[in-house]
Amino acid sequence: MRKLILLSAIAVFLVLTACGQSESGSDKNGPLKVVTTFTIIEDLAREIGGEDVEIHNLVPTGTDPHEYEPLPNDIKKTTDADVLFYNGLNLEGGKSGWFFKMIDSVGQKEDNIFVLTDRVEPMYIGGKDGHEEEINPHAFIDPAVGIKMAEDMRDAFMKKDPDRKENYEERAEKYIAKLKEIDQLYEEKINAIPKENRILVTSERAFQYMTSHYGLEEAYIWEIDTEENGSPQQIKSLVEFIKENKVPVLFIESNVDARPMETVSKETGVPIADKPIYSDEIGEPGEEVDTYIKYLKYNIDLIYSELSK
Ligand SMILES: [Zn+2]
Repeated sequence: MRKLILLSAIAVFLVLTACGQSESGSDKNGPLKVVTTFTIIEDLAREIGGEDVEIHNLVPTGTDPHEYEPLPNDIKKTTDADVLFYNGLNLEGGKSGWFFKMIDSVGQKEDNIFVLTDRVEPMYIGGKDGHEEEINPHAFIDPAVGIKMAEDMRDAFMKKDPDRKENYEERAEKYIAKLKEIDQLYEEKINAIPKENRILVTSERAFQYMTSHYGLEEAYIWEIDTEENGSPQQIKSLVEFIKENKVPVLFIESNVDARPMETVSKETGVPIADKPIYSDEIGEPGEEVDTYIKYLKYNIDLIYSELSK
């Protein structure tokens, strides 16, 4: 009798474990395992992947996506992922940066990895004062780029998870429609700013794609976070620029040291915007700017209200 109970227990166990697996060994009914490199791509994956995906994001809010030290759990999730998304344009340090180092070390398959800026024409920073020219990674600040990223993500999901193709397509369609409205909003609001005020001054030169797309002039203290941030020489050159140009207001990003811009403000008498502007990240869940859509809207509302004063 005892033997019989034991045997049936083993049988139940075998049936249970067999049910959880398809022929390929991965659980087809469970969510697609997704890894994203930073918060904006994580949010895109949440919107387009919905309940069909389980996301692990690597660089959290408050941490620099240009340079990152993966944690043990990041390495585990990267090893197990079905799909991985990264920004490209050197945001994650390029092919020799932290992301690809980790990819190579865990042996992830190349066809699981998707870049989201293949269709974006790169813009360049540097190239003067002995600095080498390099790609500006911050294309996602431009909502028109966000549309391309969302479309490419949708296509990747449909390719990797064809059984649930329609779900991705449906969610992406609704989401991209919202992004198109925001693109329109940028066009309208920036055109409504008095011409002589159409200049965006930030700490890092992160807004280049957006400003050149919608017709704002840009000025900054440093070109990219990975170089010196706010050296006396950098501050001096922005102060000189402001003395020669009419600048209504200075913006400080949510993720930078505020002191260099405060120095510029003191030396020029130009005020600092009431609220921070967002560049490399969205806020923590529950904060004011906790989705990409909110981030884009927040930035254009802030830019419009500050430059129209
Ligand atoms: Zn940056």
